[in-house]
Amino acid sequence: MQLLDGAAVSAQLKSQIKKETEELKAKTGKVPHLAAILVGNNPASEAYVASKVRTCEELGFGSTLLRFDTSITEQQLLDEIDNLNADDKIDGILVQLPLPEHISDDKVINKIDPTKDVDGFHPISLGKMLLGHKTFLPATPYGIMLMLEHYNIDVTGMHCVIIGRSNIVGTPMTILMSRNAKPGNATVTMCHSKTKNLKEITQTADIIIAAIGRPKYVTADMVKEGAIIIDVGINRIPDATKKSGSRLVGDVDFENVAPKASYITPVPGGVGLMTIGGLMKNTLEAAKQHI
Ligand code: NAD
Repeated sequence: MQLLDGAAVSAQLKSQIKKETEELKAKTGKVPHLAAILVGNNPASEAYVASKVRTCEELGFGSTLLRFDTSITEQQLLDEIDNLNADDKIDGILVQLPLPEHISDDKVINKIDPTKDVDGFHPISLGKMLLGHKTFLPATPYGIMLMLEHYNIDVTGMHCVIIGRSNIVGTPMTILMSRNAKPGNATVTMCHSKTKNLKEITQTADIIIAAIGRPKYVTADMVKEGAIIIDVGINRIPDATKKSGSRLVGDVDFENVAPKASYITPVPGGVGLMTIGGLMKNTLEAAKQHI
């Protein structure tokens, strides 16, 4: 079993991005700038945004963090996005999800200028991805593709089972894994909450991508010997041995699945770090396009 080490791969990716950022600045004076919007104070969202802002600093990017109370109206938030769209200094805009219930994710995402859509969630970005055109790929699927590329894992002809059909992970993942590209050319099965015979399907998988949001849901009996396991899940479970009283686990029962796997991503230290890498790569690309 080989660990797919998100820390090592994202460190290499970040050093490449940092180098390109310095070159861009020296040649053109342009400094990539990411604006993050955080509504409310959901602890997981706080942590994700803080780590994105920290990474911007590490890479030499500019960053702006706009924080709003949950009392902000949908229209006020849309107006804030308009301001960022109009600001030439800003290259990328990310709105940390989830948003409060009275604000429509779709309306907010649709408001982002597609040339600043570094999370890759805008319908134009997703449509271009579907057609195989150059665009900003959604950050998590992009990070997973970069991880496969880094380890030179050729998934051509493999049976890839994707569990979860969210717009931000599962669905785009099916497109990327099946398209005629490298990595790609896998035969994809998408499973979801209504799938009846999940175990029978996962047992035939050469590669499983789990994006479910249920701790340790993929167990060893669901996995074929030698399968590649990509665990997207981030779940907090109680753990009395930790000072915080809890710890993070993925959607895969890592301890029991790892001995059967050929490659596996840990949680934490796997896909999450690659997601930030994907986001930063998109932001650098956006900055280049804004010159
Ligand atoms: P989601 O929470 O929007 O939806 C979960 C998906 O799982 C749904 O499509 C549903 O059909 C499927 N599902 C639920 N129960 C199932 C079952 N019993 N069998 C089969 N499928 C089932 O999905 P999401 O936003 O993609 O998030 C999934 C997980 O990935 C969460 O833990 C989230 O925190 C994590 N996540 C991690 C990253 C990262 O960077 N590592 C990024 C995004 C999401």
